[in-house]
Amino acid sequence: MVTIIHSVTIVTLDENDSVFDGYVVIKDGELDKLKEGKPAEQILDAAEEVIDGKGKWLLPGLINTHGHIGSSFLRGAGDDMPLLEWLQTVMWPNEKTFDEDIVRSAASLAMVEMIKSGTTTFLDMYHLYMDKIAELVAESHMRAVLCRGMIGNCPPDEQMEKLLEAVQLHKNFHGYNNGKVTVALSPHAPYTCPPEFLEKVVEQALLNQMWIHIHVAETKEEVLRHEQQYGIRPVEHLQQLGLFRVPCMIAHGVHVNEEEMQILADNHVYVSHNPKSNLKLGSGIAPLTAMWEKGINVALGTDSTASNNTLDLFEELRFAALIHKGVLEDPTATTASAVLKMATVAGAKALQLNSTGALVKGNQADFIMLNPKKAHLSPWNISRVASHLVYAAKSSDVTDVFVQGRPLMKNGELQYLDEEKIIFEANMYLH
Ligand SMILES: [Zn+2]
Repeated sequence: MVTIIHSVTIVTLDENDSVFDGYVVIKDGELDKLKEGKPAEQILDAAEEVIDGKGKWLLPGLINTHGHIGSSFLRGAGDDMPLLEWLQTVMWPNEKTFDEDIVRSAASLAMVEMIKSGTTTFLDMYHLYMDKIAELVAESHMRAVLCRGMIGNCPPDEQMEKLLEAVQLHKNFHGYNNGKVTVALSPHAPYTCPPEFLEKVVEQALLNQMWIHIHVAETKEEVLRHEQQYGIRPVEHLQQLGLFRVPCMIAHGVHVNEEEMQILADNHVYVSHNPKSNLKLGSGIAPLTAMWEKGINVALGTDSTASNNTLDLFEELRFAALIHKGVLEDPTATTASAVLKMATVAGAKALQLNSTGALVKGNQADFIMLNPKKAHLSPWNISRVASHLVYAAKSSDVTDVFVQGRPLMKNGELQYLDEEKIIFEANMYLH
């Protein structure tokens, strides 16, 4: 199947940050050509489908590297409280009441929100009905890394049950839906998983060639408690426990010191930066620029709608771009291009996906299109597109979303998910 999209401004986010007016040829789900100008007649004749981009911007699909889609119905259920209190009084008690229908509807709602706001790929860490979520993700045709989240503060037989379930998810769904679904291992956090359990997780990761995703150093209190309990800071402890012997991405890393950042850099551990969730829970601001200076690959994530409260990566981009300038009193701390790469190229790397992220020949055709004919995006020319995407664009400017060359949204209309029904069902939850 060959599709051509012409008359678009292409933001490749390749090594040269190329932006140009041209066309894209998609062949069997991959990017076959990205060229300047108009396609020749014989190229158009050879295509099964020709789409007139009508001057839209075409850029890589956004990648959300941290979230919990099964809990989307807890949006607004408990604002304005610190992490531990929020987990113990809002999240965990509510989640105990969730049945399969609620989790399925909540996950569907999250996918609608993500696609509509330009996300093509996401990571989900959740502990309920992950096999059902995997089926739903496949039906949506989004690209996703799924992990059965594991809290290890329970008897050993329960720990093992969770771990085996997580490995089984990998056996059943890794590479599922033409490779769009992959599966990783996800112990929840060092403060909810005792050391002996984390060692078992590493064992299984090595045995099954799985990578690991875990919340680390989200709050100052959590790090202090860890030091009191074990006499060592969490990142150093995880290294001792062998966690970094397997590929690893940590979520948050708000309270990591110089030595810990060096450990992360030396072990090629990646970080999912979730600025809005960290701000809302009053957890702090991760040292993004210090991590960059150490050479750490930092990606972007929203966390769940219960702590954000949106899954809108355009908002996340803008927060990431602005807060570090403000905190460091340095307008050069971030650039539009660097932040866009966090949500695309760095995201793909962090999720161990090697053929999505930048728009280059041979990569998967995962991309989105925006309508720039808006007052808040004007005036523009090629030199201003990256700036507008980070500092001015809204997620509602996204009109089209493609994953593996397949349209998941065309001119604002979802192709696989029933938006109206999913929003109706979500609202039944509170009525
Ligand atoms: Zn989280």
